[in-house]
Amino acid sequence: MKISDVVLLELTGEFPAHHLQAAERGSRPLDGYSEFRGTRTFGPAQEAGETVHHTEVYLEVHTEEGVTGLFGPVDGGHAIILRREMRDFLIGRDPLAIEKIWDMLLRRNRHARAGYYMMAMSALDCALWDLKGKTLGEPVYRLLGGPVQEPVSAYASMLGFSLEPEALAERAQEYKQLGYRAQKWFFRCGPPDGGEGAARNVGVARTLREAVGEDTALMFDAFNSWDVPYAIDMGRRIAPYRPAWLEEPVPVDRLAGLRRIRERSGIPIATGEHLYTRWQVKDVLEAGAADVIQADPDWCGGISELVKIAALCSAYDVPLCPHGHSLHAALHVAAALPHSALPQVEFLILHQRHKQRFMKRFLEPESGVIRPPDGPGLGIEIDPAKVQSRRAIE
Ligand SMILES: [Mg+2]
Repeated sequence: MKISDVVLLELTGEFPAHHLQAAERGSRPLDGYSEFRGTRTFGPAQEAGETVHHTEVYLEVHTEEGVTGLFGPVDGGHAIILRREMRDFLIGRDPLAIEKIWDMLLRRNRHARAGYYMMAMSALDCALWDLKGKTLGEPVYRLLGGPVQEPVSAYASMLGFSLEPEALAERAQEYKQLGYRAQKWFFRCGPPDGGEGAARNVGVARTLREAVGEDTALMFDAFNSWDVPYAIDMGRRIAPYRPAWLEEPVPVDRLAGLRRIRERSGIPIATGEHLYTRWQVKDVLEAGAADVIQADPDWCGGISELVKIAALCSAYDVPLCPHGHSLHAALHVAAALPHSALPQVEFLILHQRHKQRFMKRFLEPESGVIRPPDGPGLGIEIDPAKVQSRRAIE
């Protein structure tokens, strides 16, 4: 088999306004500057019923044999790397020799180890696994040695929902009723918000625990926006509400800081969605800096690399709970691993509606569990009826 082209398709369509645009955002590192602190939401508020233009980019790997690997949506930033840096190198190569392509791309560019280059390699790797599945007529999880878990547990990731106490309690109970056994919420406040903000964060944890009772796991995300003393203090103050983890209190390369937070806060620490490759994950594990690793197949090096990361984590008895930027890729890997190694995947309630807009079938958990699509490949299918215009990015 031979790769004949690497195409980046930009799809545009019209959709009803997305409620995420009007929802509350979490705290961000930029909040350290007062000019950014005031913005409440993810973007301009949109009215219900309003129609918005939405654009996404998908990656296609074409072959001389006519089989096409598809993955997306992908970020426009690594689209350029795929098209300009990798395309010519890939044409004529065997798309089923995924490990060889991955290793060659890593060796080919000294900056390939991380960042946008590795994100581009990740997208390509996922598209190649889709292509392999379509070529062999099997879903990707079968090619990876599954099914092992049927179904896979998913936690409700509540990014964007209001943190006002009444709305918060109501929403938490609603998702508990839907069958989710775990929920992750995003703190709005950080060090720049002072004592009042810290009290607000503690109030969020308390309200949630009171709302869902004892049998729902609660996780909290600080999106890299805290510092070590703040995280230790916060951890101690929310510990009575028994969080399953505190996520990314500080950026993932602050290994000594993460370890101090782990040791002194008294609550488990999760991190890793911004780690690239097994080598970066190994550093975190070696440093004893995390209780949970959250590598994301869209960024860490793709499906091939996530499988290696899972093996590495299991050797340290640290569970891998993949970050939910992409659902399909993480889910196929999850279905091919034991629950002990990969206990749950993230389902971003609002973001997935957004991200899967062009897909034929909306893939979502039912009663807190989810199965990967059963057809050949990853099961990502674009619905032509939702695409108003398409163009190949040159
Ligand atoms: Mg996160």
